[in-house]
Amino acid sequence: MITINTIKDIDFQLDKYRKKGAKIGFVPTMGALHEGHISLIKESKKQNSLTVCSIFVNPTQFNDKKDFDRYPNLIENDCKMLEKVGCDILFLPNVKEMYPKGFNNTSKIDFGFLQQTLEGEFRPGHFDGMAQIVEKLLLATMPTNLYMGQKDYQQATICSALIKKRKLKINLILCPIKREKDGLAMSSRNLRLKKDSREKAAAIYKTLKWAKTAFKKLEKKTPLEHITQTELIHSIEIEAMDRLASDKSFQVEYIAIRETENLQEIKTIKPTKKYVILAAAWIGGVRLIDNILI
Ligand code: AMP
Repeated sequence: MITINTIKDIDFQLDKYRKKGAKIGFVPTMGALHEGHISLIKESKKQNSLTVCSIFVNPTQFNDKKDFDRYPNLIENDCKMLEKVGCDILFLPNVKEMYPKGFNNTSKIDFGFLQQTLEGEFRPGHFDGMAQIVEKLLLATMPTNLYMGQKDYQQATICSALIKKRKLKINLILCPIKREKDGLAMSSRNLRLKKDSREKAAAIYKTLKWAKTAFKKLEKKTPLEHITQTELIHSIEIEAMDRLASDKSFQVEYIAIRETENLQEIKTIKPTKKYVILAAAWIGGVRLIDNILI
C-alpha cells in the first residue's frame, strides 16, 4: 500500500489508472478502523482494480468540539489493517490540504429536508461539513465506485443526492452494517464506551428489531377507520423510545420509521415502498446511531 498526502499526488497517481480504463473503488473514513470499514474495502476490492481508502477526521462535521477532540486517532493500527486487507492506496491529507482557504470558504449545497431531519435536527451543521468534505474527496479521487455503510444511512442518502446534484459519474454502493456478537453496530465511537455502557449498548439494536416486528404486524392489519397508519406508526416509534429509555442509562434522541428513498414520514404503507427504522441515543457520554431496513 502506498500512502499519499496531497490532492496533487493522488490525482497524478489515479490518472495513470484512469487512462488505462481501470475501475477505482473509494472508501472514505475517519480512521479508528474496525471490521465495518474493512468490509467496505473488501467489497471495493471485489469490484475494482484499485482500491483507495481515505482517512481524514473532518473538523467541519463535528457540531460538538469535545466529540472532535476525543475522536480516536489510531493511525498505526489503521495502516496495519489496510495493509492486511490489501488496500492499494491510503489517502491521508491534513487539514490545510483539504481546507487551504479555511473552513468558511467552501460552497454549501442545500439538501433541504434530507439534511434537516433526524441527525440534522440533533447535529446542526453536521451534514454541511460532511457533504463539503465528501465532495472534496470525490473530486480528488474521481472513483468509479464509492463505498459507504448503511450504518450512516442518512449520510449515504445525502451523498447520493450530492452525486446527482454535481452530476458526477460515480456509483454509490451501500454496504450492510457489521455488528458485534451482541448486535451492537460497530463504530469507532464504541471504543469510548466504559464496560457497563458497552454491555448495555446492544439494547439499541434489540429495540430496532422489536420496532421492525411491530411494524410488520401493522403492515398485515387491515386499516382501521378511526386511526390513521401514520398515528399507528408514531405509536410504535414512541413505544420503542420508551422501551429503550426504560433503562435510565440511555438518553434517546429519536427512533423513527421512514421511507428509505427520501426519509419522509410514512402516510400509508405501500407494498411498492421500502422502509427503514433509524435510532440515535446517548449512553455513558457517547452518542450512538443505528438503523434497520424493513
Ligand atoms: P466513519 O469512519 O465512521 O466516517 O465511517 C466510514 C465509512 O464506514 C462510512 O461509510 C460508514 O457508514 C462505514 N461504516 C461505519 N461503521 C460501519 C459498520 N459497522 N458496518 C459497515 N460500515 C460501517
